[in-house]
Parts: sequence; C-alpha cells; structure tokens
Amino acid sequence: MDKTFFQQLSQLVALPSVSCTDPTLDQGNLPVVSLLAEWLEAAGFRCEIMHVAPGKANLIATLGYGEGGLVLAGHTDTVPFDRQLWKSDPFTVTERFGKLYGLGIADMKGFFPAAINAARAYSKTPLKAPLIIIATCDEESSMAGAKALVEGRRPNGRFAVIGEPTSLKPVRLHKGVMMERVRITGNSGHSSDPSLGNNALDAMTVVMQRLMAFRAELAKQYRNPAFSIPSPTLNLGCIHGGDNPNRICGQCEMQFDLRPLPGMDTDDLRQRIRERIRDIPAQFGVTVLYEPIFEGTPAAETPADSPLVQMVEKLTQSEAGSVAFGTEAPYFRQLGMDTVILGAGSIETAHQPNEYLDIKNISPLLLWLKQLIHHYCVQGHAAL
Ligand SMILES: [Zn+2]
Repeated sequence: MDKTFFQQLSQLVALPSVSCTDPTLDQGNLPVVSLLAEWLEAAGFRCEIMHVAPGKANLIATLGYGEGGLVLAGHTDTVPFDRQLWKSDPFTVTERFGKLYGLGIADMKGFFPAAINAARAYSKTPLKAPLIIIATCDEESSMAGAKALVEGRRPNGRFAVIGEPTSLKPVRLHKGVMMERVRITGNSGHSSDPSLGNNALDAMTVVMQRLMAFRAELAKQYRNPAFSIPSPTLNLGCIHGGDNPNRICGQCEMQFDLRPLPGMDTDDLRQRIRERIRDIPAQFGVTVLYEPIFEGTPAAETPADSPLVQMVEKLTQSEAGSVAFGTEAPYFRQLGMDTVILGAGSIETAHQPNEYLDIKNISPLLLWLKQLIHHYCVQGHAAL
C-alpha cells in the first residue's frame, strides 16, 4: 500500500465528522473539507468551498478546464459510533490481518485518498475535459450537501462515479427510501360503552388495511427485474398507542417505510396515500396526521446502455447491478450526469463497530480510477 494513501487516510479518519439527525451528536465537516482542499490544491486543482450550513460545506475541486468532465464524488461525514464496541480507537487507522480499521473508512473516507492519488498521476497532463472531485456534507443525515449541489447547479459534469462501498462491484441503480408516520387521535373513554369515545386503534386497523391494499397495487403496477426484490416494498414497521385493555384507545401512531423503484415519484406516492385515507376522520370521528418522518431519498437509475456503465463494466469485468441502500446518486442524476457507484469498501461493514477496508481492494480501485481519468479527461470522452 502506498505511503501517502495510508497517511492521508489516517488523517481523514482522525478528524471526527459525524452527521446525525440528533443535534447532540451532529458535528461539522469543515476540517475534513479543508484538509482535502489543501491536498487537492497541491495536486493542481482549483478548490471551491460551498457553505451549506454552519460548520458544514461541500468541496468542489477542479483540474483542467472546459465543459462536462468526470466527477469523482463522496461524502465526508460518518454515522455516530459506539466506542465500547470498537476493538481499537475508531479515529486511529489500525491494521489487522490485511484490513484497515477506522470510523468511516469504508463508508467512505477511504475513497478520497484513492481519488487524489489517481488524480495526481495526471496533474501535469493536459486534460481535454475537466476532472472534478466532490466532497459533500450530511449524506448520512439530510442529504443537505447533495441538495445544495443541485440547487447551485454544480458541478456541470458529464459522468459521475460515487465511491460508496460496493466491494468493487459497479452499481447503476438503487431503490429510494421513504419513512412515514400516521398518527390518529380519537377520544378515550370507558371500554364498557363504545359511545363514550372514538377509538384510534379501530381507525388505525383500517389505515393499515388500506396501506396493505396499496402495497399490492404498487406491486402490480411497478416491476424492475434488475432488483433482487423486483417490486417496490411497503413495510408496516411499528405501532404504539393506547394504555389499557379497558379504555377506548385515545391515540395511536404507526410508522412504515416505502422503497420506491426508479421512476416512482415520492410526492406522487404521498398524494396517493393521502387520498386512500381521506375518509378515515369522518368514518371514525378521529383526526389523522400523515407525514414523512424525513424527506426521503429518491431512487436512482442510470441506463444499462450508458457509456459510463459500459466502460466501468469493461474495467471491472462485472455487470453493473443494484444495491439495497440509498446514495447521493439521484442528485447527480438530477444534475444530468450518468452515475455509477463503485467503491472498495463493503456495505456489510459500514455503520458497524470495527468498520474496515480490505487492503487488497485498494489497488484495483486506484487502477480503475486512473483508467477512467485517462479515458474521460485525458482523451476527452467526458467533454460536453
Ligand atoms: Zn455512505
């Protein structure tokens, strides 16, 4: 393993950059972004720091000039961690039996030293299309960094590779994720006389039946055989409400998730759910609140015949497939880029104690990134 790679990886992992919807755990990512900017400037890149929120920023680093270009993208934040479950300090890169351990090493700080080292091979070469390295904030919490890129219409690349952990297998599509809640408020009363209240649980059972019917309808309507689970899914995840068998249930909340296929619009799905439960308040004398728990991640798909997909399939000798997790890919798609996800880490180790990166996976990724830069930037196949 290259010495610079190891040093850079150690420095990135050493800088805490947890992002979390819980404000007591949430941290900024500015130190990570500044360090990346320092290295990239030394490699000849022009760096722009795009402030997104206090203490949070994206980095847009560009080598070469012109329209279009190849984008190598990753997020700088990590999820929170349980220190007592780690065998070594999560902020110190530690090598054991061919693996490097550290928080965010697979997901996905390890991608940046690979991208920078691949880029450095071309810092003196004239490029026909620019090479753009993007480092975002808040991928693990709100996608605020990727959303800010879309709002700012930056960057104007042609092809994007996102280094999320895929164990060196190219990925061209994933489902979206929506997490939703339904809260029903009725009136409690003594169970011996149903006229004394309005039962929230009674109303919720009908909501759940409607959602299950909606699920069956979606499964008939949408199908994509590129996924191992080819239909969209809707899972009733948890329910809490009431307090006693002999009281009419006054309040009840149920949460569910829905994983749409590419081509299904989250706003449209929410509208269809709303219509299906519209009559519940009148029928049961309750109030019904239906809302997203978070905005959700859209599904994303780059067509199998995209030149980027075909190029990456040729390099990796693997057919581009799907994954079961969300990424920033839909936002790069919105910016008009063909997007492939390809990283050296494994998703099984991401978000886990003792997260690791297999050392043997580093050099293939580095080689492929160099080949992509050569093809798209030196030869100019990523020019608009
Ligand atoms: Zn990630």
